[in-house]
Amino acid sequence: MKALIKQPGLAPKMTEVLVPAENVIIKVLTVGICRTDSRVVDGTIPVEKPTVLGHEFCGIAQNGKYAGQRVAVDPLINGLFMGVDIDGALSEFTAVPEENVFPVGNNLADEEAAYLEPIAASMAVTKSSATKEMVGGIFGVGRIAELTKLILQTEGYNIEYLQPGIQYDYVIETGPADLTPAVEALRPKGLLIIKSRGRTATIPLGTMVAKELRAEAVAYAPYPEAVKWLEANASLLRPFIGETFPFNSAMLAFETAKTTESVKTFIRVGQRDT
Ligand SMILES: [Zn+2]
Repeated sequence: MKALIKQPGLAPKMTEVLVPAENVIIKVLTVGICRTDSRVVDGTIPVEKPTVLGHEFCGIAQNGKYAGQRVAVDPLINGLFMGVDIDGALSEFTAVPEENVFPVGNNLADEEAAYLEPIAASMAVTKSSATKEMVGGIFGVGRIAELTKLILQTEGYNIEYLQPGIQYDYVIETGPADLTPAVEALRPKGLLIIKSRGRTATIPLGTMVAKELRAEAVAYAPYPEAVKWLEANASLLRPFIGETFPFNSAMLAFETAKTTESVKTFIRVGQRDT
């Protein structure tokens, strides 16, 4: 089968590899590109061995209790991330343990189903000690900031982009490397919620200490909750869905993803059997 493989220090290359033989085998339909994937492609996040790219996807389970169903996947497998630490989804078939597999409703387009992982990541804020009664602010702009705001609003949270002159009970950082404006917008004893990965950031410790602020880092909401949100709110995702490229134009898809941050770019790997 064909797979798009990143080798340490080299550009990704379409390579012929063996179909995986263990775990739940998934025939890959559509793969979404996120910042993590782009960083692996350009080498900012290094791979240690030749690794199949991609981690946001849907496909058809070929075996196990969901055989024949369309599924999306939690790409964090025993602490290892697909497309970074272990083989990912940009191949005709991929394989994951059954507990990482989630059937998704037929009402969803493949691109919407492939959105499960970023939704679980944005929804992770619901695990923090921020409550719906608190006044929350989002720090950052772009697709992840917008998606986080959308998901929290549909869940009933009082959340907006940071506005001047308001003291927030909590602020969620979604990307910028200097967190000073986020820390300054918090009320005394307020809560800084951290969700970005794969980079370092500047935090003004003096202000943190003077205001006795707290910080919490969150990674993912439980995937069944993210599936429920996706099935109920898929139509709200339309503004976040960009172009879909065929598998043999995967590198063009990565190029496009760089210049269209506000929408997600997808790669169509396989078709449903009819
Ligand atoms: Zn992702």
